[in-house]
Amino acid sequence: QPLLEFRDVCKSYDRTQAVASISTAVARREFVALVGASGSGKSTLLKTVNRLVDPSSGTVLIDGDPVGSLPLAALRRRIGYVFQSVGLFPHMSVGENIAIGPRISGQKLTRERIAELLELVDLERSMATRMPNELSGGQRQRVGVARALANEPQLLLMDEPFGALDPVTRDALGERVRSLHRELNLTTVMVTHDMAEALLLADRVLVMEAGTIVADETPQSLLHGS
Ligand code: ADP
Ligand code: ADP
Repeated sequence: QPLLEFRDVCKSYDRTQAVASISTAVARREFVALVGASGSGKSTLLKTVNRLVDPSSGTVLIDGDPVGSLPLAALRRRIGYVFQSVGLFPHMSVGENIAIGPRISGQKLTRERIAELLELVDLERSMATRMPNELSGGQRQRVGVARALANEPQLLLMDEPFGALDPVTRDALGERVRSLHRELNLTTVMVTHDMAEALLLADRVLVMEAGTIVADETPQSLLHGS
């Protein structure tokens, strides 16, 4: 049974059909990239998984359960989500930002656990007491990844996670995330408009155009056309 499955998922906003009947599945421990031009429906599809968006029709299943049948808090505890714009709370320290997910579910992270999460993303443990505005863009995005991992999710969703970073920082963080995907046995879905990034990091690339999947291939087959 796939960890994640989309069955005939459609989503229309007022005028726009953002996602048009998508059916596909993501296996446990797979790293899938959703690639496509701006407006092709990538973010909308990703957001149906943790119910930031509900489909107009169709079903999204996690481990066989329709996401709509699970309590929202329980669903989101199983999913780490990295936003494009990071969205750290500016008035909270790095450590408090990392601990926010567990705190919402009534669990207090120890200082040691916060330090561990910082180390997972190659930040020093002393960073926990810093404020977001004291950090570089790359450091902030690392904190965004640490925050997404705080609930020990099965599933990691990332929406253009490295889009705003300079190329060197982007490559370093991309590789780190790829290693974490392996080490933590994650199932990962990453939205990107950057095909090179998708080819480098993902096991499988889904290409989206106007709300549909127009290609579903491994990086090898995309690169070598086999
Ligand atoms: P992508 O992530 O590939 O850029 P999106 O899923 O963000 O694509 O958008 C797909 C289409 O849906 C676009 O035409 C976009 O303008 C539209 N859209 C996205 N979000 C909304 C919204 N909240 N309200 C209305 N239209 C939206
Ligand atoms: P992006 O365009 O950065 O992918 P979205 O359009 O998905 O972001 O969301 C809009 C903003 O709402 C984001 O900047 C994000 O910081 C914030 N946001 C929404 N939900 C959450 C959440 N659960 N945790 C943190 N930030 C959130």
